[in-house]
Amino acid sequence: MPSDVTGAAVLTREDFDRRRAALKRVARREGRVLAAFSVGLGLAQLLFLRWAEPQMAHDAVVAVAGSLFLAYILGVGALLWRMQRRIRAARLACPHCRAALNDMSERVASATGRCDLCGGQLIEPGDRP
Ligand SMILES: [Zn+2]
Repeated sequence: MPSDVTGAAVLTREDFDRRRAALKRVARREGRVLAAFSVGLGLAQLLFLRWAEPQMAHDAVVAVAGSLFLAYILGVGALLWRMQRRIRAARLACPHCRAALNDMSERVASATGRCDLCGGQLIEPGDRP
């Protein structure tokens, strides 16, 4: 891997673009999983309520629906936590200041080749888009 004058590893333009595309794929995939889970189980709860109201005693419906709703909220929370962890793990980090690059920092790095926080070289200087 190439390095700059400080000895820190810098990315080629190709590696940088590949890592950005991988991050976008992770975010898109995790978003779809979260959407499918929350919409699917949200609708399942509504169907359960519609089915259970005429079948079961009101207190039993409330107890079961309340438990299902708590499980649903825990599931959505767990998926959100997993999504944040996976996106954080896929983020590029500056080899100089170790900061994870957010969307804006990635755009600045793409345009300038440098970290917007410390100014360190991230992408080989000759590699312009
Ligand atoms: Zn930096």
